[in-house]
Amino acid sequence: MIEQIHNHRNSEITYRGIWFDDIGFELFSEKFQKSKQENPCTVCGKKTNNSLGVLVGRGGATIVHPEDIEKAEDGGYMGWFAVGNECIKKVPKEFWVTGQTN
Ligand SMILES: [Zn+2]
Repeated sequence: MIEQIHNHRNSEITYRGIWFDDIGFELFSEKFQKSKQENPCTVCGKKTNNSLGVLVGRGGATIVHPEDIEKAEDGGYMGWFAVGNECIKKVPKEFWVTGQTN
C-alpha cells in the first residue's frame, strides 16, 4: 500500500506515499461538498474537531508521508486536509498529521 511515488516534475525524486484509490478514499467527495458540518472530514463530510488529517499530493490523488513533503512538491502538492477519526483508520499511522484543534 505504501509506495515510492515519483515526483511529477522530476521522476528521479520519489516520496513515500499512498494512492487514494488503493485505500478506497474519495477525497472531496459529494458528501464532503454537501456537508454543512463544522470542519468536515474531507472524505465523508462528518464533523471533525480538526485534530487529525493527511497531507495531500498530486492534485488530490496521493497521501504524502510527513517526512517527505519537500520531495512531494511537484506543483500538485496541496497541503493538509482534515480527516475524521473513523476514516483515518484506513491510513497507516505514520501518515497521520496533527491539525489545529478548536
Ligand atoms: Zn470521515
